[in-house]
Parts: sequence; C-alpha cells; structure tokens
Amino acid sequence: MTTENHPLYSQIPATDRLLRDEAFEPLLTQFGHQRVARTLRQLQSRAREAIRQQQALPVWCVDWAQAARQQLDGENASALRAVFNLTGTVLHTNLGRALQAEAAIEAVTQAMRSPVTLEYSLDDAGRGHRDRALADLLCRLTGAEDACIVNNNAAAVLLMLAATASGKEVVVSRGELVEIGGAFRIPDVMRQAGCTLCEVGTTNRTHEKDYRQAVNDNTALLMKVHASNYHIEGFTTAVEASALAALGDELNVPVIADLGSGSLVDLSLYGLPKEPLVQEMIAAGVSLVSFSGDKLLGGPQAGIIVGKKALIAQLQQHPLKRALRADKMTLAALEATLRLYLHPEKLRENLPTLRLLTRPQAEIYQQAQRLQSLLAPHYEAYSVQVETCLSQIGSGSLPVERLPSAALTFTPRDGSGSLLHALADRWRSLPEPVIGRISDGRLWLDLRCLENESRFLEMLLK
Ligand SMILES: *Cc1c(COP(=O)(O)O)cnc(C)c1O
Repeated sequence: MTTENHPLYSQIPATDRLLRDEAFEPLLTQFGHQRVARTLRQLQSRAREAIRQQQALPVWCVDWAQAARQQLDGENASALRAVFNLTGTVLHTNLGRALQAEAAIEAVTQAMRSPVTLEYSLDDAGRGHRDRALADLLCRLTGAEDACIVNNNAAAVLLMLAATASGKEVVVSRGELVEIGGAFRIPDVMRQAGCTLCEVGTTNRTHEKDYRQAVNDNTALLMKVHASNYHIEGFTTAVEASALAALGDELNVPVIADLGSGSLVDLSLYGLPKEPLVQEMIAAGVSLVSFSGDKLLGGPQAGIIVGKKALIAQLQQHPLKRALRADKMTLAALEATLRLYLHPEKLRENLPTLRLLTRPQAEIYQQAQRLQSLLAPHYEAYSVQVETCLSQIGSGSLPVERLPSAALTFTPRDGSGSLLHALADRWRSLPEPVIGRISDGRLWLDLRCLENESRFLEMLLK
C-alpha cells in the first residue's frame, strides 16, 4: 500500500463537518469563520504529514476543537509579553528598561482615550508647541533656559549635531568615543549628522590644551560624551565640564554633552553611586545637554535636550526635529514622571526605578527566605537556596557599580545541565514568564525587581 492512500487519512475529518460541530461554536464567535477554517486546514495538513512520517495519527487529533483553540490562542498572545525580570539588571534594555510610575500610566491612558491639547493653546485657541509644558518643567528642574524632546537619546545626539554643526568640525576626546549597545557609535552619528569628528588627546588622558589646539575657524562644537558603559582606571585625565565650558566661552565655541543616562537627583542621597546630574552640567555652563528618558530618569523612552534658548530654537526649527519628535503618549508619560521630581520626599515611593534600585539587601534577603520555604517542597529535584548576589543598574548606567542583593538559586541535585536548562525553559514558557540567569551550574533569580510576589508564586507553583 502506498502512503498516499493510507487508511488513516480517512480519519481526518472534513473542514465543513468540523465547523458544524458545536464544539467549534465558541471558536467561530471569538475568531471568525475565516480564521478558524484556515487554522483547520493547517491542522489537517499537519496531521497528513504526521501520518506520512510516523504511520500514525497524532494524539491531538482526538480533540480538533482543542487543538484549534490552542493554535488560535497562541497566535493571539501579544508579542510584548509581561515577564518577571529577575535577571539582576534593573534597567534591562531587552526587557523594556524603566517601569513607569502610576502617574505616568494614568497620564498615558488619558492621552490615548481623549483628545488632548498636544499643540493647542487654551488661552487663545491658537497653535501651541508640543514640547512647551515639558520644557517649562525641565527648566524648573535643571536651571536650563529651554528644552526639546525627541524619541530617544540617540536621536537627541543626532539632532544636536545636525542642527548646530553640520558641515563643520566637532572636537571630542579619544577617551569618549563610545559605542552604546552596538548600533550607536559616536563617530558614526557624527558622519550621519554631516559633521567632521576631530579626535583629541589619548584613550586615557586628554587635557584642556588638546581641545584648545584643535579649535580652528571651522570648529562648531566641543563635545563631551559620558562613558556610560565602561570605566578607565589608573593614569587618567579628563577635562571637567566646567573647565571645558570656560574654554568654549573664551574661544566662542559652544560645548555640548551627551550625558547618556543623566539623573535629576543626587543618587548618593539614596546610598547609590553618584551619576553626573543634568543641572550640574547646566550650572557648569554647558550649552546643550542630552539624556535618555527611560534610563535613571525612570520615564518613557525619550531623548531630552536642555540648554541655551538660541540653540534649542535651532533644534526646534531643524527638519530632523519633525522626523524625530515624540508622540503624545510619550510626552504625557514624561510630563507625569518629571512632575514626581518636584516632590523629592516622595520620589522613592512613586518612581519604580528608584524604588527598585534602592531596595535594601536585608529586605530582599528576607523575601528570598520567605519564598524559599514555599517553593522548595515543589522543586524536589533541585536544591533551593538563598544567596547574596550583586545586581546591576543596567542600560550603561554606572557600569562598574554593583548593588548588594539576594537571590533564590536552583541547583539540580543530580548536577545535570539538562535539568538546569529544562527549568529555565519551563519558566520561560509560563503565562507570565520568569526570566533568571544561569551561572555556576545554578539558575539564579535575583529578587531585587520582584514586587508582585503572589503572582510570582502562582507561576512557580504551577
Ligand atoms: C544610552 C546612551 C545613548 C543612547 O540613548 P537611547 O535613549 O538608548 O537612544 C547615547 N549616549 C550615551 C552616552 C548613552 O549612555
């Protein structure tokens, strides 16, 4: 007998018959005739393929409605799944960086549901400017004269360069020619902006005289780039922002800074390592400062530029600004986030990023102990332990600094790597996946970012 007329083929029901079956009624209501019929045709061809290869009907053929539901539900699952970030990296770029404050979430929802005064002035019914409200807030918080908002900090750097230095030279220290996350490299952005990069100094030491000697009639800017994701130790010298700004004043060349993460509060007040403050750069006399909205600031993805009025006006008028401008949802979330900074006493409570970064190790350790006793009985093939560990801030902020934290670790009792990876795989396929990290033959769950404990237990006790 040839496989083409294998008797098992006759056990694959016809599409029409299945669609008339009452088990399919709820599927037809939820997904519509066309999608259900298409799914059935795919399942039928999968069944025929299985018969050809294995001479047997696949097990799922006992319940076609159930098989169709599984496939249709799978197709409907969002590509942006909520997960537990227990990797130990708080601002995890691949997991969407900063979690938004409740105030920001409400502001975004409102901006989505209702028409908003995005570019409309209620005073005279005239045209408003979409960055206006935010610029006022940013000036108050940083001491700058004006501000401009774009989609991310990479866009901010591109716009600053293109609008103020196209066709001209920009002087940067060799110690600051950074690459961020692969695709953002200062020399490439310079080229895209039509600027000529003028490198000065050396990798470890750059002096004021290096900048001074590089300035000529075609120099448009002196630029500082915050070395976000690496750190040079030892015999090093860099020119401070204030000294560079003084030199810029003397030579009549504006100084700009890509601050990367940037921060609006002194993190050392919260027991964290200090990151340069945006307001310090402005006070030092830097003409334009750019930073990200979704790194230490704790807001939505955005690029924020603050600085001198005349230069910000140049950015606002440049055609690239139209292409890079932020949308109403970003602006709503950013405004609500920045407003939290007006009430510093409550910032830690209201801003998830700061709350997570400042969780004391003792508190996380206690949480780990509590969860260990609940989880251990359900994971008998593993030794479940509480360990201290070090979290990192992430997104290139404070690259060498670590935050003392605590983790639950799962070690296969038989020492096998396959059990270890099987556990990680299983947790990644949960309805709300749990993402940890494998190291030293164990699966580590750093609990620093675990706030919803009951949902976490619901997942891991499945
Ligand atoms: C993160 C970073 C960028 C890129 O910012 P995005 O908001 O991710 O576009 C640029 N420059 C520096 C120094 C950074 O740290």
